[in-house]
Amino acid sequence: MPVSSTPAIMLRRIEFGDFDYIITFFTLNQGKVSLIAKSAKKSTKRFSGILELFSVLDIVYGSTRGKGLPVLKEAVLKQPFAKIRADIKKTAYASYWAELINAWMETREKQSKLYYLFRSVLDELDLGHMPETVLSILFQMRFMAISGHSPNLRQCSICKKQLEEITKANIIFDLTRGGLVCENCCQNISKRITLTKGTIKQLLWMDQGDLTKAKRIRFTPQALNEGLTLLKAFVPFHLGKEPKSLKFLRQIRT
Ligand SMILES: [Zn+2]
Repeated sequence: MPVSSTPAIMLRRIEFGDFDYIITFFTLNQGKVSLIAKSAKKSTKRFSGILELFSVLDIVYGSTRGKGLPVLKEAVLKQPFAKIRADIKKTAYASYWAELINAWMETREKQSKLYYLFRSVLDELDLGHMPETVLSILFQMRFMAISGHSPNLRQCSICKKQLEEITKANIIFDLTRGGLVCENCCQNISKRITLTKGTIKQLLWMDQGDLTKAKRIRFTPQALNEGLTLLKAFVPFHLGKEPKSLKFLRQIRT
């Protein structure tokens, strides 16, 4: 019988009957995959307690037969990320990122760039060297780019005037258009957020180049605030719904 094996990160786990779990993994080779883990709930021997949220595992699973879910056959723990699950704030951030992936990525659509991004921000979150807020900006900017919803921060969305040519220090971001608007075009913009040019440049740095470099960017408190305000409004607006975990994250932040 054909089987697949792949590195995978646990996105979601729900109880199924008295004995089983249904687990959604974000796999490196096949994107998002939901599997049934038989007897995982009752028997500690079966998967020896390693099926925990955000863990990185090497998994082996069967192919789909009929209407049932494929069965998880083997799992080897590669990275437990136990410090994330032990901390409610870290858990809230990781849950938000996992929800974005789970809600907007198609099943069995390979997304290796997003896989490595998620793995990398979880690594940093577990280590605790970078502020969670900066990591969340990094994840969201790159997630939006991968899912084709990047905010347009390079030019006026209406007249296409380049960012460098916009002379004002405070620039309007139009939520409906998903991009900047210059001083000549900014009348009648109802859903607006103001960003300084410095913030825009820092967000653009986050969005490009390799992850190691992006992680070294030091945000000023103002840029951090403006960046978070922008993404808090922009991500739900452009994805068309409010992620459930975002509400929890807001409560924790305040
Ligand atoms: Zn313009």
